[in-house]
Amino acid sequence: HPAGGESLLRALNPEQLAAVTLPAEPALILAGAGSGKTRVLTTRIAWLMQTGQVSPGGVMAVTFTNKAAKEMLTRLGAMLPVNVRGMWIGTFHGLCNRFLRAHWKMAALPQSFQILDSGDQLSAVKRVIKAMNLDEERFVPKQVTWFIAGSKEEGLRPKDVEIRDGQTQKLVEVYQAYEDQCQREGVVDFAELMLRTFELMRDHAALRDHYQRRFRHILVDEFQDTNRLQYAWLKMFAGPPREDGGAVFAVGDDDQSIYAFRGAQVSNMADFEREFRVKHLIKLERNYRSFGNILDSANHLISHNTHRLGKNLRTEAGPGEPVRVQESASDYNEAQWLLEEAQQLHRSGMPRREISVLYRSNAQSRVIESALFNAGVPYRVYGGLRFFERAEVKHALAYLRLIENPNDDTSYLRVVNFPTRGIGARTLEQLQDVARTSGRSLWQSASAISGKGGANLAAFHALIDKLRATTHGLTLREIIEQMLQASGLIDFYRTEKEGADRIENLEELVNAAEAFVTQEGFGKDAVALPVDEQGPGTLSAGLPAAVADVDVTPDAETGEIISPLAAFLTHAALEAGDNQAQAGQDAVQLMTVHSAKGLEFDAVFITGLEEGLFPHENSLSDADGLEEERRLMYVAITRARQRLYLSFSQTRMLHGQTRYNVKSRFFDELPDGALKWLTPRNQGFGSGYARDYQAAWQRGSGLGSMVGAGRQSAWQPPAAPPVPARMVEAAAKQAGHGLRVGQGVFHNKFGEGVVVTLEGTGADARAQVHFGRHGTKWLALSVAKLTPTE
Ligand code: ATP
Ligand code: MG
Repeated sequence: HPAGGESLLRALNPEQLAAVTLPAEPALILAGAGSGKTRVLTTRIAWLMQTGQVSPGGVMAVTFTNKAAKEMLTRLGAMLPVNVRGMWIGTFHGLCNRFLRAHWKMAALPQSFQILDSGDQLSAVKRVIKAMNLDEERFVPKQVTWFIAGSKEEGLRPKDVEIRDGQTQKLVEVYQAYEDQCQREGVVDFAELMLRTFELMRDHAALRDHYQRRFRHILVDEFQDTNRLQYAWLKMFAGPPREDGGAVFAVGDDDQSIYAFRGAQVSNMADFEREFRVKHLIKLERNYRSFGNILDSANHLISHNTHRLGKNLRTEAGPGEPVRVQESASDYNEAQWLLEEAQQLHRSGMPRREISVLYRSNAQSRVIESALFNAGVPYRVYGGLRFFERAEVKHALAYLRLIENPNDDTSYLRVVNFPTRGIGARTLEQLQDVARTSGRSLWQSASAISGKGGANLAAFHALIDKLRATTHGLTLREIIEQMLQASGLIDFYRTEKEGADRIENLEELVNAAEAFVTQEGFGKDAVALPVDEQGPGTLSAGLPAAVADVDVTPDAETGEIISPLAAFLTHAALEAGDNQAQAGQDAVQLMTVHSAKGLEFDAVFITGLEEGLFPHENSLSDADGLEEERRLMYVAITRARQRLYLSFSQTRMLHGQTRYNVKSRFFDELPDGALKWLTPRNQGFGSGYARDYQAAWQRGSGLGSMVGAGRQSAWQPPAAPPVPARMVEAAAKQAGHGLRVGQGVFHNKFGEGVVVTLEGTGADARAQVHFGRHGTKWLALSVAKLTPTE
């Protein structure tokens, strides 16, 4: 190989080295967690460039999350002195967005097309269902949305869907109407980004040739999670096997396939081997991430799955610390315990960003967030109720979107009468009727409305037009500040009872925009660049940092860069928006297991390890579902480098109901020798209950029977569960103070409160009480005077 690549390669083991330096031919790297797949992929990109085999513009690399894409760019930037900003490295959605921005005309989209997030999409579908006069009971908006997304992910337009019965027929009509509506409004949903890009490549030979020639190297991380459309998309960009040595380089791990529920197909791996005529299949077996006990746990657990390609994973690090297991009485206690452990770790020198809290479902984060928040610990949530999805933020974004594109009906409806401007439901229905019959946007139809409603609509239009005119050429910050004032949003929230929080969030939006501008280099002086002779996009290597952004490409014809505002709106829709901690602040990382894929942390907490939650109840009815949950658990465990905590709680408030839990079956699938129980194992308060409950289950009266019936509803313990009542009585008697969990009490100093936890007996008896005013306190019952209030 040409000289120069040496230092890049020094740290690699022989298999990794072989993978990095493979000739430009199709290759598949199949290996377990932490074996260096992503590192190999990143190093290969650097090596290919450094040895002059490809220019930065000739590489496309696909990852699954924004966080992973950012990390890859950072690592690459550290390896090579190239400007990585302009490279085509990103998520499938991010790359499609970029592609469509460059070819918006060909794609029949407005230049400033907007992206619908899942919430927007649902409300758009609801509008279609309503307009078609369909019954929401028969056409449940969520299910219709899945149908549409599912069809698109199969590459099917309405005309391609096979019609089996009357219901499908109607669904297809909704799908068609939804598409028309999106087209009219100039908006696209996530699946549309993929499908539209795919079709554009399929239908335009010149474009296809261009990109197939351009991307000589396509690299895909987490290949096991590609769905059918993504696979077809990759084939489209890769083109037929070629003479000049272009190649797809895929890395993956069948044990980490966790998106089957969304149509991912592990079989894509086998198809890939065959269809791309893979010449090189390399396995990596040494794990560099985790200590022995963590890795043993992962290996042991995953060995319970039957459908595996089979790989080994070993480490040369020692056993390290044991895996710690914690049982709590309630989700509240779990959060308190976790908070204290995390603080302890931080005090002993671990940066907060190296501490991660994982959970199976987003709803679990609230309790943990409030514990961290109350203690003043900076944290950052990925996914979940994202910053950009909060109502007030969405209102603000809607105004911004209307400045960009007044035909965006979703945004129009969101704010036309917010704050109120005397535009009633009747006027809006009338307006929607006119728009429907004429096939035009609401904005375009408003002039047809007469009377007072019409006048108020006109005033709203004047407001938007004026905003557009007065903010032209301003910085993003100035645009947003002007909009917040002129729209009346700030004034509105000033008068609202809970408005202070919302105003804070709106101010945070200004900060987010500011951070976007500095991070993404989207300053006021971002200039239009000429397109070089080689065609669209090939100039990325030479782009000044100020305009080269992962998601923004100059227009293919004019070279025009979309406005900072449009870029920011795209960012808001695409980015898993982060909240709380400011950018760059050292913060504890909270996320679902799904979004932790590919990442690693010094310390990891896996919380809520309870039957029905993890493994999730929806997966329990079939073996495949359970195997997917187990792979998910495997992903969770293998995120940890040094320290791993597994935690479960006897009770948990979820979706407004208290659940009584049995610990996850996964505990039985871990090697005893690797675990250390922080709380006594199978003893005491909760586990007795757990045993009783398990017995009830085996008798068929509990969860078991519900699962047998294939019910998907949130499971509940048998009505009025006999055990908890007994358990609480016993605890109360034991403590000798007559209190019970959930009881209202009065304290002379702290006022009214509710008992959250009871512990200990006699002189040792303690209660944890949540006081409305003074927060939560631990009280020694031999001292504190608590009077029951009920
Ligand atoms: P996952 O399946 O979880 O995505 P992965 O196979 O992609 O894992 P990486 O994230 O690439 O694994 O690597 C895991 C860790 O091991 C990283 O911190 C990486 O830097 C380190 N690592 C990989 N290979 C080596 C090596 N040869 N020497 C030292 N450290 C290595
Ligand atoms: Mg990886």
